[in-house]
Amino acid sequence: MRILEKAPAKINLALDVLHKRQDGFHEVKMIMTMIDLADRIELTPLKENKITISSHSRYVPNDERNLAYKAAALLKERFQVNEGVTISIDKQIPVAAGLAGGSSDAAATLRGLNKMWKLGLSLDELAVLGAEIGSDVSFCVYGGTALATGRGEIIEHLPAPPPCWVILAKPFIGVSTADVYSKLNLENVTHPNVDQMIKAIEEQDYSTICQSLGNVLETVTLEKYPEVKQLKTQLQRFGADGVLMSGSGPTVFAITEHESRMQRIYNGLRGFCNQVYAVRILGESPFK
Ligand code: ATP
Repeated sequence: MRILEKAPAKINLALDVLHKRQDGFHEVKMIMTMIDLADRIELTPLKENKITISSHSRYVPNDERNLAYKAAALLKERFQVNEGVTISIDKQIPVAAGLAGGSSDAAATLRGLNKMWKLGLSLDELAVLGAEIGSDVSFCVYGGTALATGRGEIIEHLPAPPPCWVILAKPFIGVSTADVYSKLNLENVTHPNVDQMIKAIEEQDYSTICQSLGNVLETVTLEKYPEVKQLKTQLQRFGADGVLMSGSGPTVFAITEHESRMQRIYNGLRGFCNQVYAVRILGESPFK
């Protein structure tokens, strides 16, 4: 039985880092929501007892370093599965962009192989396994909208934000998440008001959501890559209601409620940036 699984990207509506922990991870407090831009994962049973992986992207490793491969290997080992699988990734999400593409591929592989190998695991159990692969995988297992704390693996579900358009712009650079965290100096930063964002989402208060957008990692990425800062300024000039960098960047996003404004921002930006997408927020999880 062949299985197709969607792996949507996420954006961070708020991202705060509280402190560095003794285990080396950072304690975070962030709001994530999924958007309508997705990789497609195809899982096909293989007679040989092994995992093979392919994708058309030259930026993604097609071997055991791939997060989808790691997800399959983890399930195989943990549940002693003696079956093989071919994983084929149709990559639509920009790589190393702050959109959790790799984590979402891993999460989709967990969900898909749970069905294929009839493991009977709940989403909660898959999310715990996902945390062994990467901090964002747990959220990606559930999808929807959530507050993520701990190192990102403790998930509290939130309602979907009010419907709106998201225009994503990715400059032609890749940013290493580990590098950004290692350069973060928490002494001189303005922390976003994550609690205000949670309240605004719960109350469906679009204008407070726009005002509460904040990402503490901007201090590092915007300083190192002035082009990311310029893109933010452009998005603001074209009339976005709110603008923010997602994750560790370099993707920046703008939100607007109106289709005509979305078109204006999208068209205006295409002259400045080669990767521009206009998508909707997928605030409700399609996986439950
Ligand atoms: P996050 O927002 O969770 O920090 P990101 O969007 O910044 O993630 P990814 O696109 O997930 O970053 O890729 C980060 C690195 O992981 C890349 O450099 C890539 O080589 C590696 N990688 C491994 N597997 C995948 C995958 N399936 N898709 C994308 N990248 C992958």
